[in-house]
Amino acid sequence: MTILVIAEHDNAALKPATLSVINAGKLINADVHVLVVGHQSGAVSESAAQASGVSKVLYVDHPDLADGLAETVAAQVVSIAPGYSHILFAATSYGRSIAPRVAAHLDVAQISEITHVVDLDTFERPIYAGNAIATVQSHDPVKVITVRTTAFNPTPAEGGTASVQALPKMQVEQKSRFVSRALTQSDRPELTAAKVIVSGGRALGSSEKFNALLQPLADKLGAALGASRAAVDAAYAPNDWQVGQTGKIVAPSLYIAVGISGAIQHLAGMKDSHVIVAINKDPEAPIFSIADYGLEADLFTAVPDLVAAL
Ligand code: FAD
Repeated sequence: MTILVIAEHDNAALKPATLSVINAGKLINADVHVLVVGHQSGAVSESAAQASGVSKVLYVDHPDLADGLAETVAAQVVSIAPGYSHILFAATSYGRSIAPRVAAHLDVAQISEITHVVDLDTFERPIYAGNAIATVQSHDPVKVITVRTTAFNPTPAEGGTASVQALPKMQVEQKSRFVSRALTQSDRPELTAAKVIVSGGRALGSSEKFNALLQPLADKLGAALGASRAAVDAAYAPNDWQVGQTGKIVAPSLYIAVGISGAIQHLAGMKDSHVIVAINKDPEAPIFSIADYGLEADLFTAVPDLVAAL
């Protein structure tokens, strides 16, 4: 019984999410392989081989794989699937687009966003925006699983001595092709990997005020910026900053919610943060019910005061 973890990367570096998926794989069974699909991703393969608990890295290198198109990556996964009992992806946009294709090819049910491994075929996953936990048992011969990475500590990045084995690329009919990629350039940490997040809500009132208030605080703390859906919908913050049920799931060491009410859909994305600080002028705001520290204050004075104090 061997576990296959699909590496997420940008051809240059392994994404930290993969280390959490490897750890989830180790909880299922000790024998964990990692598949790296990409182009000129040798450094990624080496990183995966050094991750603690990985016994083998499989590396498929081809120019057609450089952009990580879901159809082509899924075909590589399916081609080696017969050797594996469990195939694990991070529950990120990357993993969520490939895993269902793999499950459909293998004619098995996907198990989504597991947060706990009970045993070889039983897993826990949140439902109803995290308000209930379902225990799911699967008797499929191969379990195709996405892993909520915030629920599993990353395996140590060093200490492994896995071998790297090159595999040939599978020929697939190219039904999609890569056209372009528009990336937001930022010096800030990536939202899902950040240790500190400063997140703003509708109360900020405009994009200008959102940036003027929250950027200095994030700069002081070396934090990523996040937002509620109301702030995103009002165009105060870009779409990829949204935290919550329909945004990103985060669990930083410190989450500072500024002018966010704490709707369940927002809490679903950040309630596992280690320390939660809420700044809100309404003492009845639901965010205070999960905050470790609550500041009942007007954010337009409290945030500048906090920045000055830091
Ligand atoms: P509000 O609820 O309007 O809260 C603003 C808060 O700011 C209030 O608590 C108010 O007291 C406080 N405030 C106002 N002025 C000040 C001031 N000067 N100083 C201090 N505090 C002040 N939401 C998400 O965030 N993420 C999601 O992924 C998400 N997914 C959703 C999915 C579905 C299917 C649905 C139906 C909803 C979803 N929502 C999501 C929306 C969610 O229900 C809320 O509407 C949203 O989170 C509210 O955002 P907010 O807290 O910024 O705004």
